[in-house]
Amino acid sequence: MASDRRDQAVRAAVDQALLTGTEPVAALLDVAGVRASAAALRAAFADVTDAPVLHAFAVKASPLVPVLRLLYEAGLGAEVASPGELALARAAGVPPERTVLDSPAKTPAELREALALGIAVNADNHQELDRIGALFQQAPTASPLGLRVNPQIGGGTIEALSTATATSKFGIALRDEGARAHVVRTYLDRPWLTRLHTHSGSQGVPLSLLVTGIREVYELAEEINAAAGHRQVDTIDIGGGLPVNFASDEETPTYAEYARLLAAEVPGLFDGRYGLVTEFGRSLLAKHGTVLARVEYTKTSGSRPIAVTHAGVQVATRTVYDPVSWPLRIAAYDAKGLPKTGGPAVDQDVAGPACFAGDLLAVKRPLPLLEPGDIVAALDTGAYYFAHHYAYNSLARPGVYGFVTDDDGSVRFATVRPPQTVDEIVAEAGGGRPDVLLME
Ligand SMILES: *Cc1c(COP(=O)(O)O)cnc(C)c1O
Repeated sequence: MASDRRDQAVRAAVDQALLTGTEPVAALLDVAGVRASAAALRAAFADVTDAPVLHAFAVKASPLVPVLRLLYEAGLGAEVASPGELALARAAGVPPERTVLDSPAKTPAELREALALGIAVNADNHQELDRIGALFQQAPTASPLGLRVNPQIGGGTIEALSTATATSKFGIALRDEGARAHVVRTYLDRPWLTRLHTHSGSQGVPLSLLVTGIREVYELAEEINAAAGHRQVDTIDIGGGLPVNFASDEETPTYAEYARLLAAEVPGLFDGRYGLVTEFGRSLLAKHGTVLARVEYTKTSGSRPIAVTHAGVQVATRTVYDPVSWPLRIAAYDAKGLPKTGGPAVDQDVAGPACFAGDLLAVKRPLPLLEPGDIVAALDTGAYYFAHHYAYNSLARPGVYGFVTDDDGSVRFATVRPPQTVDEIVAEAGGGRPDVLLME
């Protein structure tokens, strides 16, 4: 069980000195869990279609090279959205035919590189299509080319992550006046456009809404192909966005549920006429990551107990700034890394180290009363948390360690990213050029 593996890993992180008084934060990644999620994703789609499917992991969810490599070895590719993400995917050995480039703001240089490499590119808008068309004239490319459309089906519970609203910045807004006809004409004028792309949003968007968006895009592909008189659109990229359950260890909804729902609601998508691309991020990684932090001090304020820990806004930025949308489960361990039991649960705040009042991982959370030296674990933080360091107060990036558990209960760790040192913080902050501003 994932929670048993996690308990073993916390204990081992203390025993093997990954988490110490001087390295008071560490992030753990459950390699077996990641592999299981990748396998579940592939099986879910293989169960409903014989069409070729590229599962391109959304690199933004965990931009760490060994993670991309692990997923590639598990049969996935990479969805990238910046020069940095493309470089990470390449460093991980993900080949061009397993890579998809999707950013809304690609420069000419980025486009030229992607086309030279033969990476699939989804254009965001008509101006970008014109650029791609010009490059296409200059040099032939193996890149499959598509266009992102926004079906404008509405948002989910988290506005900032809803990409298919009426006024979203992404893709071509299909329901705007004349937009759909313009898209169809655009395809007829550009026979090299062979893909359609949509991504209706991430956490907070219900499955039914994701399916509605994909149905719209499927219907558009059918319309384009009917107008073209042949199967010009041969691949549909359905994006990612499967929500994650942050409330318990249960993994729900599952990829299998989503694939079955899609197969029931949009059967033509899976009948073999279209190749498919998916772009899942959070749902592949979130539940397999854990941030561990030592409790430095405890106190009470306004008679509420507060545990001051070393994990706050630097590793859990979304939770700290938007706690209502992004609540995290917290587990308590003692100084040896054993689950903290005994004593009644007491409502307490779990605070981070940053110097602003809102730097709290949890407020009034019932937990065994924490003491200095205890360890708190922020669960489900494998995507968009510890890999997304926020450099407030010059707090160091914690080390990230993958782990596997052996049958005898022992735990082996591999360093994915070493902890950032204070010297590195100084160097990145212009430490090598202290005098440059002393200008006349
Ligand atoms: C962020 C993003 C994804 C991944 O979303 P998840 O919610 O992490 O699955 C996929 N595609 C695009 C275009 C994105 O911007």
